[in-house]
Amino acid sequence: MTYTAAADRYDRMIYRRCGNSGLKLPAVSFGLWHNFGDDTPHDIKRDMCRTAFDHGITHFDLANNYGPPAGSAEEAFGEILRTDFKAYRDELIISSKAGYDMWAGPYGEWGSRKYMIASCDQSLKRLGVDYVDIFYSHRFDPDTPLEESMGALDHIVRSGRAQYVGISSYNSERTREAVAILKDLGTPCLIHQPSYNMLNRWIERDGLKDTLNDLGVGSIAFTPLAQGLLSNKYLSGIPDGSRATKDSSLDAGVITDEMVTALRGLNAVAQTRGQTLAQMAISWVLRDRGPNGVGITTALIGASNPAQIVDCAGAAQNLDFTPSELTEIDKFANDKRLNLWANSSEG
Ligand code: NAP
Repeated sequence: MTYTAAADRYDRMIYRRCGNSGLKLPAVSFGLWHNFGDDTPHDIKRDMCRTAFDHGITHFDLANNYGPPAGSAEEAFGEILRTDFKAYRDELIISSKAGYDMWAGPYGEWGSRKYMIASCDQSLKRLGVDYVDIFYSHRFDPDTPLEESMGALDHIVRSGRAQYVGISSYNSERTREAVAILKDLGTPCLIHQPSYNMLNRWIERDGLKDTLNDLGVGSIAFTPLAQGLLSNKYLSGIPDGSRATKDSSLDAGVITDEMVTALRGLNAVAQTRGQTLAQMAISWVLRDRGPNGVGITTALIGASNPAQIVDCAGAAQNLDFTPSELTEIDKFANDKRLNLWANSSEG
């Protein structure tokens, strides 16, 4: 059936300026890392994208390797762009990335100019678009000069393949260097994409959060729900079909009795705020805009069904916390170092 976007799609979402740039992003963005591979029926993927856009989520985040198999999430989204979102391209912010293993041989991963430009071209083809809005270096490459990786991003913008560029999981020191190189090249760094949630606070420990504020660079916090832990899903054990039962990226071993007790405590705080735990977790990453008003621009969620997206979008209705709510949260949630990307970001 032909899709027409909800007429009231911009009524409830809020849009926040990305750092010092002119681009506004929705408080909640939608990522296609999980549940967009060939193992998920296409109508579920399509329904999730429609629901997201109908609720004002204008930003869809991809990467070359999302699937399985790698590349299939971009193909699926390309199909949805053709069948559903064709008339709405200028209302969408689509991002992709290169950095992780994508094809065989020495030019299929990391940060060389050779790999990044070829990978971007492959992504454009799979998506069926002339350009993406944001293109990222997905991870820092210790063996490639940063000037080369940032030079590739600059070229990707100058050649019309992307409108803006970003970096993902770079620590504070490398971020300062990358941002300075991009500034010299004349292609400012729009955005940083780090993991961040109540149980994974590495960007506070590392100083990255302050650095981004200092530099006026926006950010998009990925896994704000700690892959679903910070929701009502695991309050009474591990339900069938949840990510913890089917995927190695969320190790069921972290769902200990101690963790469940903490999640129940957090859930009680969320209830007093009139939010679900997932909504409170999203509001929490967006809570503090820092001394320069930069802070975290948007929370990048994933989902396995449309109802989860509706729930998460509702977080935008209540982003403020009282000091006592924050203290209460810290009693139950602290940095449990659940940073799967620590090799890249903290190495
Ligand atoms: P997440 O939002 O922390 O976790 C998503 C999972 O939480 C869903 O699959 C679902 O789990 C559960 N969930 C979502 N909403 C829920 C709700 N309202 N109630 C109950 N459960 C809910 O994020 P993520 O999927 O791990 O990552 C989000 C995006 O971040 C990715 O798609 C990708 O775009 C980006 N990312 C980037 C990097 C990078 O290196 N730059 C790395 C990882 C992710 P079930 O499947 O169990 O239902």
